[in-house]
Amino acid sequence: MWVEALDLVLQRLKKSNLDFGKIAAISGSGQQHGSVFWKNGSEAILSTLDPKKPLLDQFGNAFSINESPIWMDSSTTEQCKDIEKAVGGPMELSKLTGSRAHERFTGPQIRRMYQTKPEVYDSTERISLVSSFMASLLIGSYASIDHTDGAGMNLMDIKQRAWSKNALEATAPGLEAKLGTLAPAHSVAGLISPYFVERYKFDKDCLIVHWSGDNPNSLAGLTLNTPGDLAISLGTSDTVFGITAEHNPSLEGHVFPNPVDTSGYMVMLCYKNGSLTREDIRNRCAEKSWEVFNKLLQQTPPLNGGKLGFYYKEHEILPPLPVGFHRYTLDGFKGDSVEGLKEREVSEFDPPSEVRALIEGQLLSMRAHAERFGMPSPPKRIIATGGASANTTILSSIASIFGSNVYTVQRPDSASLGAALRAAHGWLCNRKGSFLPIWFMYRDKLEKSSLNCKLAVTAGDQELVAKYALLMKKRVEIENSLVQKLGRL
Ligand code: ADP
Repeated sequence: MWVEALDLVLQRLKKSNLDFGKIAAISGSGQQHGSVFWKNGSEAILSTLDPKKPLLDQFGNAFSINESPIWMDSSTTEQCKDIEKAVGGPMELSKLTGSRAHERFTGPQIRRMYQTKPEVYDSTERISLVSSFMASLLIGSYASIDHTDGAGMNLMDIKQRAWSKNALEATAPGLEAKLGTLAPAHSVAGLISPYFVERYKFDKDCLIVHWSGDNPNSLAGLTLNTPGDLAISLGTSDTVFGITAEHNPSLEGHVFPNPVDTSGYMVMLCYKNGSLTREDIRNRCAEKSWEVFNKLLQQTPPLNGGKLGFYYKEHEILPPLPVGFHRYTLDGFKGDSVEGLKEREVSEFDPPSEVRALIEGQLLSMRAHAERFGMPSPPKRIIATGGASANTTILSSIASIFGSNVYTVQRPDSASLGAALRAAHGWLCNRKGSFLPIWFMYRDKLEKSSLNCKLAVTAGDQELVAKYALLMKKRVEIENSLVQKLGRL
């Protein structure tokens, strides 16, 4: 599917009469954590492509397994436990690699492949991430995994930016040889391969800059470069990310090397229950319409009269809880104190309360975990992105709960825009022969460009923000007891 997608994109660009010869550099964005298993001998296929044929016709026999594990897979709980145990526990793994073990991370996925399909593992000469896989197609040989996407594998020593021997050994034997070397995200993977030069008339000097993961590319596309800026992406999954100077290991969230700088880190929280769960409740409570959903949200008061909901249509990452919906009311909650208030579990809410409990629940969880991760409160500014950032009623809830101005971007596709910016950044660093910060490219020009953010909603009333802090405290207590009872510790 991914190979065919590249064929399709290039054919469409050709039909649109794009002059491929003008393209100086290409980079890209791949779903984080997903992996591709190349069969022994496949580098020869990559390097001898026939320009008369589409890519799809030539890769039928290149993979040791045709189904690629992707980020939505949560079947590797056992492997996560093994890896954490082998390196000294979840906190040690987080210190070493930037995250504790997560089911979707590539290391546990590889371990599962090794354990359940050893013949696939043995017949694999190279494991690429989705990002390095696509770069490999373009350069006609195996591209390195970049430091930032590499940090989403539970395999890389985040301080050294090199494979960790301990993590490799805990995962599968002989793994280092199958992973190749790592490289900074801004570096050049290679020149475009002759296949594309002949078939599409690319310039033979067109640079392929290392591809990276979708979230790191979004950070670049949102031009996030100041500590204290927080991005909230409301997509299929929800993510919250920002930049920090230090690596503060934690059991929740992830730390990756900053994808557009050689120092500093990108910190990220990731929720599996994002838009699909919002859609589910919209379909059940709001006649399958966002308009009706927004009306219900607006007709309920902030704080929802103390009604709190936890909605996990999918096995959740943060907190690590299984599928299930949990609803509570804090009878007598007025917003001034939670002292002595005991939550009461209930089986359902009326539709308006259900909609508000969902939105407030998702946002309070983001605020609580972002604060616990050391992100400033309130953030300097929040940039909202992803499909649901088109919904101003949801943006107003963000402003009320976080107490910060909320901005949106003019260009919707921050990940692909970020990839294009990183291509230009990689090209520039290559030309200068040394690293330059990415903001060199848009310094003093941002306001005049479509990269500029627009103020969508101003910060909410600070009194309400303080009341939300109380509700958040109670929510964290309930969440902790749910994790004790049902979660993976
Ligand atoms: P992805 O993470 O897959 O790239 P997007 O960022 O494109 O996803 O977001 C797609 C999601 O946006 C859809 O699942 C849809 O539920 C949601 N969405 C689109 N419009 C609205 C809206 N007005 N209000 C809330 N959610 C919306």
